[in-house]
Amino acid sequence: MKIIQRGRDMMVNTLAVLGGKPAFRQPLHVGRPNVGNQNDFVDRARRAMDTRRLTNDGPFVKGLEARICKMLQAKHCIAVANATLGLQLVAGALGLAGEVIVPSFSFIATAHALLWDGITPVFADIDPRTHCLDPKSVQDKITDRTSGICGVHVWGNPCAVEELQIIADAYGLKLYFDAAHAFCCAGPGKMLGNYGEAEVFSFHATKFFNTFEGGAITTNDDDLAQHLRMMRNFGFPGGGAPPRCLGINAKMNEISAAMGLTNLDFLKEFMNINYVNHKLYCQLLEDIPGIMMIDYRENYAHNYQYVVMEFVNEFLDADDLQAILQAENILARRYFSPPCHETPPYSITYHLPITDMVARRTLALPTGTAVHEDDIIKICDIIRYVVENAEKIDAQLPRLID
Ligand SMILES: *Cc1c(COP(=O)(O)O)cnc(C)c1O
Repeated sequence: MKIIQRGRDMMVNTLAVLGGKPAFRQPLHVGRPNVGNQNDFVDRARRAMDTRRLTNDGPFVKGLEARICKMLQAKHCIAVANATLGLQLVAGALGLAGEVIVPSFSFIATAHALLWDGITPVFADIDPRTHCLDPKSVQDKITDRTSGICGVHVWGNPCAVEELQIIADAYGLKLYFDAAHAFCCAGPGKMLGNYGEAEVFSFHATKFFNTFEGGAITTNDDDLAQHLRMMRNFGFPGGGAPPRCLGINAKMNEISAAMGLTNLDFLKEFMNINYVNHKLYCQLLEDIPGIMMIDYRENYAHNYQYVVMEFVNEFLDADDLQAILQAENILARRYFSPPCHETPPYSITYHLPITDMVARRTLALPTGTAVHEDDIIKICDIIRYVVENAEKIDAQLPRLID
């Protein structure tokens, strides 16, 4: 292949980590924020200020919730200030207590949202293929203190939603999902957002769809939705009535919702760019020994936000490869390493072999609207060169990396 040949000629002995010039002048990021039409956003922001509707369930928040319901075919959408608060509201509204089973291979907020409210997250292992909760491991972790299961749709890959529901029903547990990665991704029969008691999306700046900071809870349960709406606003039911339950301030403001409405108009574009980038990466890296790309099911809706690979090599590990790429201004990211159970305040010695293995190997590569075809070809050239010359590079690498 021509590309590889060019890579060989270009790259020999010029890795930036070994003193060469970085391949990119500007850093390439994982999850550089997607921004739609700036004028549309500014117009909306001006309208919010003109009308003095800045927050408290204003027209932009209502409009955003309605559009998300329609897109996901979900009955209720409750916009929130961020997904972490959303997860806390769901745990509170479902009456969770004692222990809740979560994956350790997730962003720390999945566990923190529970412990913050005095609930113990109990970590289960994952499926090596999807990186999501392994139902068998979940079953092993159930005790008489377990009140719920929180699955995480890692990389937008749907959890084993049906198997987990069967387990939840059999043991009388509440099942809900951290869908922070999974906006606009489909499950086995419906869009994610329709499984379990509720699902929580993150609209943080680095996610596929952003509202600066923000998130949303979706549910098809009328009573739960009403409860969540009250909890989001200090327990107030609305209409000037006094509070009816414990609540917090988890409201999304109108500027965030204005950003959301603006970005929704460009989702198809973001998705197409992600898809093309993902496909090209897979094509260029697939045949390299020791590189396994996480692929997504064709013909199922997906946001293709994450280009993720597992890296196994006799001489170099994923940390080495990350450092090599970083020197080239390719800011690949390790996920989720170390996994939650190994970090404070959890720091528990658990036997989670798949989690440990996947966390050691996983690297996410730059993609999104700011990364172009030429960049990807260059990145893949470098990775191929590194793998082909791993032994030599390992001998030369400054040992700082270990
Ligand atoms: C980003 C993320 C969160 C937290 O979302 P915020 O909106 O930043 O609170 C939770 N869980 C997972 C898996 C995430 O990736």
